[in-house]
Amino acid sequence: MTEPMFQVAVIGGGPAGAVAARLLATAGMQVALIERGRKRSFKAGETLPPVANPVLRRLGLWSLLTEGHMRCPGNRSAFGSEALVDLDFIRSANGAGWHLDRIKFETALQKQAIESGVNFHRNALVGLKREGTVWDIPLADGSHLTANFVIDASGGARAVLRRLNVAEARYDQLAACVGIYQCDVQQDHRTIVEATQDGWWYSAGLPKGQRAVMYFSDTDLESYGQVRKSFDVELSKTRFVCREVQRSNALGAPDIFVEPAYSAHAAQVAGPGWLALGDAAMRFDPLSSQGLWTSFLGAEKAVSAILDGSESTLRGYAGWCTETFRSYLSERSKYYEMELRWPHLEFWQRRRLTSQLRRPA
Ligand SMILES: Cc1cc2nc3c(=O)[nH]c(=O)nc-3n(C[C@H](O)[C@H](O)[C@H](O)COP(=O)(O)OP(=O)(O)OC[C@H]3O[C@@H](n4cnc5c(N)ncnc54)[C@H](O)[C@@H]3O)c2cc1C
Repeated sequence: MTEPMFQVAVIGGGPAGAVAARLLATAGMQVALIERGRKRSFKAGETLPPVANPVLRRLGLWSLLTEGHMRCPGNRSAFGSEALVDLDFIRSANGAGWHLDRIKFETALQKQAIESGVNFHRNALVGLKREGTVWDIPLADGSHLTANFVIDASGGARAVLRRLNVAEARYDQLAACVGIYQCDVQQDHRTIVEATQDGWWYSAGLPKGQRAVMYFSDTDLESYGQVRKSFDVELSKTRFVCREVQRSNALGAPDIFVEPAYSAHAAQVAGPGWLALGDAAMRFDPLSSQGLWTSFLGAEKAVSAILDGSESTLRGYAGWCTETFRSYLSERSKYYEMELRWPHLEFWQRRRLTSQLRRPA
């Protein structure tokens, strides 16, 4: 069955896609949003730093945070020193950050999009063909959509970019082992980061009495495999993070899963009749807490370029992506260079060598 034609089809209903679809529909465009659905009840990527607050307000997302999400009053980190250093957001001009219930947040973003007139499809893109100026978009259930413009907002799946043979430049092999604990006490709402010899640990109390604990390292390093095998044992060797988990009275064994967390950018983020945004265009190290709010900014810029419709504004969007990634790499280097305790160890050595933009392989 062939659906009526859309002006824009957005592939992926995560934060980037749902926001872009809503902004386009609000501007009067006929928009389809295609989201394949999720495998798990938890989605990583839940911390929004204070710098995100003005973007959330401007894009009409602030009201979505009133229920079911938690304020994040600050960070503590043992990064570059043996001591745990406090960063209190009270001093931040933008106020506190947020710990999101990601699933609830994304459901609300999709609902906002639907209420703005977006045609939502619980389905997966399984192919892509352009005939003249129209994209033929086959979906997993055998149906097809057609659209003049297609947006790749499918995150790491790169569902459109892969089909257009657009390469990706990867900067590392970072991945996360994620453990989600159920806790029964009121938790400290600050995030905590602790560097170790082969990577770093992160933990944060979450809405619904949960606590996320994540270990980040390169997948080819022995310690990554070790943590995957014996998460609790390796966590117990940390100085600060394990204490935080004990304090929140974590109940039972956590669900453990792994998530790629490498930094990367697409070789090309826009072309005739298409554009990529969010993680499909650029992926950031979670240490930067930059993924979500940069996705929102990108959605805003991409939508302006599509509404304008000229090649030069699409080039402007591509230029913004390049500059954003360049400045991210430089910030990332500065941050990792704060950790000088293990200069001879592979994980930390690798981080010092990657502040330049790379050509995609
Ligand atoms: C372990 C980890 C921790 C992180 N922590 C943080 C953090 O603390 N703060 C922060 O800001 N960022 C964090 N991030 C990054 C953040 O999660 C991402 O930047 C953000 O999710 C990007 O949003 P997106 O919409 O581009 O992609 P996604 O959130 O990945 O959404 C893409 C969507 O596309 C859908 N999709 C994929 N393929 C298809 C297809 N073929 N057809 C239809 N739909 C499809 C998927 O189901 C998904 O819903 C973290 C990432 C990881 C891995």
